[in-house]
This record gives sequence, structure tokens and C-alpha cells, in this order.
Amino acid sequence: MSAHLIDGKAIAAEIDARAGEVGAKLASSLGRPPCLAVVLVGEDPASDVYVRNKVRRTEAAGLTSIEIRKSAEATEAEIIAIVERLNADGGVDGILVQMPLPGHIDTNRVIGRIDPDKDVDGLTEVSAGRLVLGKPGLRPCTPAGCVLLAERALGDLSGKSVVVIGRSILVGKPAALLFLEKNATVTIAHSRTADLPDLCRTADILVPAVGRPEMVRGDWVKPGACVLDVGINRIDAPERGAGKTRLVGDAAFDEIVGHAGWITPVPGGIGPMTIAMLLKNTVIAAALRAKQPALADF
Ligand code: NDP
Repeated sequence: MSAHLIDGKAIAAEIDARAGEVGAKLASSLGRPPCLAVVLVGEDPASDVYVRNKVRRTEAAGLTSIEIRKSAEATEAEIIAIVERLNADGGVDGILVQMPLPGHIDTNRVIGRIDPDKDVDGLTEVSAGRLVLGKPGLRPCTPAGCVLLAERALGDLSGKSVVVIGRSILVGKPAALLFLEKNATVTIAHSRTADLPDLCRTADILVPAVGRPEMVRGDWVKPGACVLDVGINRIDAPERGAGKTRLVGDAAFDEIVGHAGWITPVPGGIGPMTIAMLLKNTVIAAALRAKQPALADF
């Protein structure tokens, strides 16, 4: 048996297109398309690429974006002032502050100032609280993308056994809560988990979100299981030439693909879904602002 590849890129393109369609409907009531504001502080090259991709995909979907770039020397007070200005701006539906922020800025204090109704990354305490309480709200993008891909692959997730490896605020914890919301039975593993390979073998759906290249080996995966590989790791690839690198996930793809039921590739799996869910959240935020909740349900 060979696993079905879950094509995150294609599914993300569908979500982008749908966000664009719903955004166009909203434009007539808002008088403008939904708008995402992205704040980038400093010159980190990886963050620069992420922000450019987010802005490019937003605009390609027919939504609008505002890009605010500040130097690495910007103060916390300046960044908070930008966030407050965007909160008050009736032309902005979603606010994203690109992580990581320079070391002298307290990330939590900045995130904490984002209006939860514009928190398209789903990272504020209010958004996290809404998720824990099962109340409507904007959900973190990468975990929401995982759940969406799992549903595309398996349909109803009710009763499925899910093992999430990693308990970060950004991925692991919200992923576990989102799978729980779908009536899956969820276990969260982390660096102190005993017998991780054994635990993983119980999973119908395995979600490695660790940041350790190819940590999940072939014999950790139950035959027929669905592996949603969140990890993105750059490793040396001497076979491609001197000094070359390549991206791998947290799962040893080649060992798993022969017997898993479903697997996401890296790149091209969860990664593209993160931006798709950001666009979706921007449109949801705009729909709720426009008092059109029916359009937030897509
Ligand atoms: P963090 O470093 O914040 O969290 C890693 C988690 O992995 C921690 O909970 C840690 O446990 C756990 N862990 C570390 N070592 C082990 C181990 N040996 N066995 C079991 N668990 C372990 O990372 P993130 O959650 O931010 O990101 C995880 C990965 O996902 C990274 O590769 C990142 O690049 C990728 N990522 C991908 C995204 C995408 O769009 N595809 C978006 C965001 C992240 P403990 O808490 O005990 O320390």
C-alpha cells in the first residue's frame, strides 16, 4: 500500500479562491474588499519572505493588504502604537504581527494589544480563551489548516485517535483543541513523553509539530494512518551539490509513505495551508464586522 499524498498546495489554492469569492461579496457591503494589515519589524530574511508571500497571496485572492515595515531598532512603544492605530482603523479587518520580533520587544505585550476581533493569527489570550471555551473566534492558522486537511482526507474525525507531538502555543496546543472540537480523542506528546514511538503507533492521525528533522520513523506509524507533518527543517543536501540544502519535515517521509494511508509532503503540505487559513480568517473577521455571519461560515 502506498499513502495518498495530501496536496496542501492545491487545497490551499481552493481556500484562497473561496476567500476571494466571499471577500468580493463582502466588498459590496463594506464598500471595499477585506483588508489584512501585516507588521514586520526588522530585517530577518525568512520573515521577509513569509510577509511577501502573505501579501502576495492576499492580493492574488482579490483582498487588500497594508504592509508596515519598521527597522529592528523600533521600540516596543512604537510597535504597540501601530497596533493600536490598526485596531482603530475601520478599513482594516485583520492584523498580523510577523514573529519573531527583535529581542528587546516583548512579544506577548504586543500581541496582547491586538483587537481579538482582528486577531487573524488567533494568538491573543482572548482568542485562545475562546478556543478553550469552545466559543466562536479566530483560530490559529497552522492548526486550523491541519484539521481542514485531515477532514479532506478522512471526512468525519469523530472518534479518531489523534496524537499531536508538540505543545507550543502556536501549533501543538491549539491543534489538540481543534481536533477535540471535532470529537477526536486527542493525546498531546512532548519532550518528556514516555515511549513516544509506542504512543504514535496508536494514532489514526499523527501530527508531528516539533522541529526535529525526520524524527518520526516509519515504524512509529500505524498502517493506514494519516500523517500531517507540520515540521519544517532545513538540512544539508550534499547529494544536490556542495553547500546545498533541502527542506524536510518532522516525519521520515520515505519510510512512512509505503504504509501510511495519507501523508502531507514537506514542502507543499501544511505550509501553504497556513497562509490560506490567514486569508480565510481575514474574510471571517470582515464578515463579522460587516454583521454578515453567514458569510463567515465557509
Ligand atoms: P516549538 O519549538 O515551540 O515547540 C516544539 C515542541 O516539540 C515542544 O512542545 C517540545 O516539547 C516538543 N519536542 C521537542 N523535542 C521533542 C522530542 N524529542 N520528542 C517529543 N517532543 C519534542 O515549535 P513550534 O510549535 O513553533 O513549531 C514546530 C515545528 O513546526 C517547527 O519545525 C516549525 O518550523 C514548524 N512550523 C510550521 C508551520 C507551517 O506553516 N507549516 C507553522 C509553524 C511552525 P517541550 O514543550 O516539552 O519542550
